[in-house]
Amino acid sequence: MTRTGRLIVLVGPAGAGKTTLAHRLVEASPQTRGFSVSHTTRPMRTGEVNGRDYHFVTREVFEALVAQQGFAEWAEVHGNLYGTSKAEIERHWAAGRDILFDIDIVGAHNLWQSYPAATRLAFVLPPSWDALKDRLQRRGSETPETLRRRLRTARRELNGLVASPARWSVVINDQLDSAVQTAAQLFADARPAATDLSHHAVVQAFVQAANADPLAQEA
Ligand code: 5GP
Repeated sequence: MTRTGRLIVLVGPAGAGKTTLAHRLVEASPQTRGFSVSHTTRPMRTGEVNGRDYHFVTREVFEALVAQQGFAEWAEVHGNLYGTSKAEIERHWAAGRDILFDIDIVGAHNLWQSYPAATRLAFVLPPSWDALKDRLQRRGSETPETLRRRLRTARRELNGLVASPARWSVVINDQLDSAVQTAAQLFADARPAATDLSHHAVVQAFVQAANADPLAQEA
């Protein structure tokens, strides 16, 4: 029988360092950990490789897979469709691997619902809201509109985190090495104790700053 590996889901704003964190975790133990390659309908960006970063497909192909119940979860993010195929999960499980996911909060909750015993949700945050804005601006790839959209999404996801705190661990990505260590605990046998967000000063300050930032409000 195929071993049911853990599903380690990293959620958090663009600029939190989720992708770097996920790749560091896989590199530390490539025999036992794999990265889930999603399907998406969004256009490929420079530097991306089909099959490595995403399976880039047309909306028709994506919708056919939805109709065939081929996805473990899927969601529309920023106007494009993204999904984790059941085949991708099976591929890793057949090789005996735990799986890392870099997906949005809707997908995270859906995976939790489909695989409650195997799924661990981690919310990855930079040390502060200002640090997040700074990182996004320094990437140089954001227009004023995409920056606002990313901040709005970040604010919405943060409010989703505080609405269901029992499901989440929080990883503050200030120093990458210590964030990798914290995240690595998600693979441990015992489920880490859920974060008590009411005592988590960084999260509280983050949510307050997000909710007060005019750039992050819904249009
Ligand atoms: P990007 O287009 O910048 O690569 O990703 C945009 C958003 O889509 C990110 O928040 C990313 O985590 C999310 N995403 C990527 N793949 C999936 C997926 O398979 N399912 C879901 N629900 N979200 C995804």
